[in-house]
Amino acid sequence: MPQVTFEEIECKSALNHINIPDMSQLRWSLNPYRGCQHACVYCFARGNHEFLGYDTGRDFNERVIVKTNLVPVLKRELRRSGWKREAVTIGTACDPYQQAELKYGLTRGALQAFAAHANPCSIITKSPAIERDLSILLELSRVADCTVIFSIPTLREEIWRHIEPETPKPSSRLAALSTLSEAGVRCGVMLAPIIPGLTDDAENMETVVQAARDNGAGFVGDNVLYLKRGTKEWFMPFLRETYPHLLPTYERFYRGAFAPKAHSEDVTAAVQRLRERLGMTPNQLPSREPTGQLQLAV
Ligand code: SF4
Repeated sequence: MPQVTFEEIECKSALNHINIPDMSQLRWSLNPYRGCQHACVYCFARGNHEFLGYDTGRDFNERVIVKTNLVPVLKRELRRSGWKREAVTIGTACDPYQQAELKYGLTRGALQAFAAHANPCSIITKSPAIERDLSILLELSRVADCTVIFSIPTLREEIWRHIEPETPKPSSRLAALSTLSEAGVRCGVMLAPIIPGLTDDAENMETVVQAARDNGAGFVGDNVLYLKRGTKEWFMPFLRETYPHLLPTYERFYRGAFAPKAHSEDVTAAVQRLRERLGMTPNQLPSREPTGQLQLAV
């Protein structure tokens, strides 16, 4: 297990405004940590570490920035008269349940604040550690939209071990999905990233979508791998070393950050056919408004 350094800082703001034209539903994010001990080779957030003066490879995995005052800052922001209780996504640039969370509990504190303010939110994670906060998630679900999204690119352990070396096993994520869903928390799965030549075959995608459905996911989202600056420099040497036979394909596919449009469209269409066959819907983010109702937002 790598030696991880936690760097404690004080943040000025907890809520980050996201301005993505095609994603008007996703307007606010919250990341208690920067960097991620889960060390996924494809992580698109790697580039962010450069802004801190660190490298996007090993430093991203092993130098984790901890926003120690996140919870009081968030509470202050949620109390602001101009805040309209819009939906917030937790974990867009780190896993909010990476190992650091067991030490600092910042995600837990943020969820408690969202529950107290009936503020809708979604959480994206690869860790069954989220089960620790089940009671808070249920409380939040009673007063606002709350969605937990488990990221599961594959159930094949021989691939998982290489691409997500410090993450909990995919089977443990399915178990957590089942626990949360049975308890009444709205859950979904992101089949992402879909990695050309590794996880984009029909069998892998069907296995994940089927397992998602069988374990209580209400929807399955998908996304083909993209390799932007900061990620590509870490991913390509990994590929050269671990799956050298794929190198020519990637050199052709990823001259820029995105795979060819035709390829992405084919993959997306295949996932959509799977969803239709297995009775699933695509990714659904929580609504921007709180429900204000004492019922589960499912
Ligand atoms: S768990 Fe998410 S944030 Fe963490 S390294 Fe993997 S992809 Fe990146």
